Amino acid sequence: MDIIPKTPRPYILAESTWKTIKDTSFEVAILPWGACEAHNYHLPYGTDIIEAEYVASESARLAWEKDHKIIVLPVIPFGVNTGQHDIKLDMNMNPSTQLAVLRDVVDVLHRHNIFKLIILNSHGGNDFKTMIRELGLQFPSMFLCQCNWFKAVDQSKFFEHKDDHGGEMETSVIMHLTPHLVRPLSEAGDGAAKKFKIKAINDGWAWAERKWTQVTKDTGVGNPHKATAEKGASYFDAVIENVSQFIVEVAKADKDDLYA
Ligand SMILES: [Zn+2]
Repeated sequence: MDIIPKTPRPYILAESTWKTIKDTSFEVAILPWGACEAHNYHLPYGTDIIEAEYVASESARLAWEKDHKIIVLPVIPFGVNTGQHDIKLDMNMNPSTQLAVLRDVVDVLHRHNIFKLIILNSHGGNDFKTMIRELGLQFPSMFLCQCNWFKAVDQSKFFEHKDDHGGEMETSVIMHLTPHLVRPLSEAGDGAAKKFKIKAINDGWAWAERKWTQVTKDTGVGNPHKATAEKGASYFDAVIENVSQFIVEVAKADKDDLYA
């Protein structure tokens, strides 16, 4: 896939110059947030980073083409990997550190009159809800929200096997976006995972962190073997369509009059 154009994209901060940035008034900032961690034997550690970058930039492009001034900030590459501390070079960033990082990002946006921020999250271990509550109290003029792009579209319409981590969805998406980084599927583990013995946790109304190496042998949770780049392409297009609609809605919204 070749979606990185040869000219700078005006909605990507890292590709922009001060001249254009200082003369543009942006409606919404997007902060893609990934994780750097093992994804079975066949996907790169940067899987969540790649997904965050591409979903953010392509969704922003669609919103920009509808005349909304969006700015995508550089992706934060480290996620919460407390449950994977014993997997080599899974780069844990503690939630308290994430809060400190997010506070500094919000402070910059606030100082430069960008009052809407979407955290575009790519990693199941990241959860910004409590941070959004705390920072909302500190910066009451900001509209802060998070978006888990992997929940933006019903995955069961595209994939046979449910994906939690490094399975059919993520493998298909990375085959579509950066195929040179995917090892042959013959090298992939089956992504078999154990469940909790405690019913309420499996039913989803109670929660505890999974100790990853006790749950899965190959670090994957979800069978990747039916993945294809074609499935990845059609799912990715559906995701950026929905995420871009969300961005447009946030851009249009009056942050002081959000409720009907
Ligand atoms: Zn992932």
